[in-house]
Amino acid sequence: MAKPRSPKGRARLTHERLALEYPEAYCELDHRNAFELLVATILSAQATDVGVNKATPALFAAFPDPWVLAAVEASEVEPYVNSIGLFRQKSQNLVKMARILVAEHQGEVPSTMRDLVRLPGVGRKTANVVRSVALGLPGLPVDTHVTRLSNLLRLTDETDAVKIEYALNPLVPAAQRGEFSLRMILHGRRVCIARRPRCGDCVLNDFCPSSQL
Ligand code: SF4
Repeated sequence: MAKPRSPKGRARLTHERLALEYPEAYCELDHRNAFELLVATILSAQATDVGVNKATPALFAAFPDPWVLAAVEASEVEPYVNSIGLFRQKSQNLVKMARILVAEHQGEVPSTMRDLVRLPGVGRKTANVVRSVALGLPGLPVDTHVTRLSNLLRLTDETDAVKIEYALNPLVPAAQRGEFSLRMILHGRRVCIARRPRCGDCVLNDFCPSSQL
């Protein structure tokens, strides 16, 4: 098969192959609704999903909705998340976030990028996770794996996450952006591992410009 020559062609073939490899594109942060995913994603900044998943069952049991979380002080949240990096700042952000949900959004997680990024602790990556995974809206979260794979596959030369998101959006149909990101993340964790990519086991190795084979 001819190698795709354009970034758009490589993006399309990448997603076709990764969809076969990871049919169930799933988010590895445990959650049952948009509020829980928002909380878990805020906690996941500079932390592992595994570490966040260990903390969230007790956290969600104690603070099951925005109204309960909005009514407490950050110091009451801290014992539930103190195994996670930056837990004091994150506890403050969680309480402030819940207060905004209650005061301005009737306790619902807002759906627009503009409203989401106004929440404390929420940047475009977190907003795109919530939009695509919990709300079924277009959103392409760019994390360290999406950044690395996008550069290795020469989908874009940008290194800034926001610029990468803007560069990738035209390459991926809107309805597929969330799954594209999730599958890139899974592939980055399992196969195209930072500093030691397993090109021999990679389903993209016949057209990836950075294949070491
Ligand atoms: S071929 Fe190698 S460098 Fe390219 S995506 Fe696969 S593992 Fe990564």
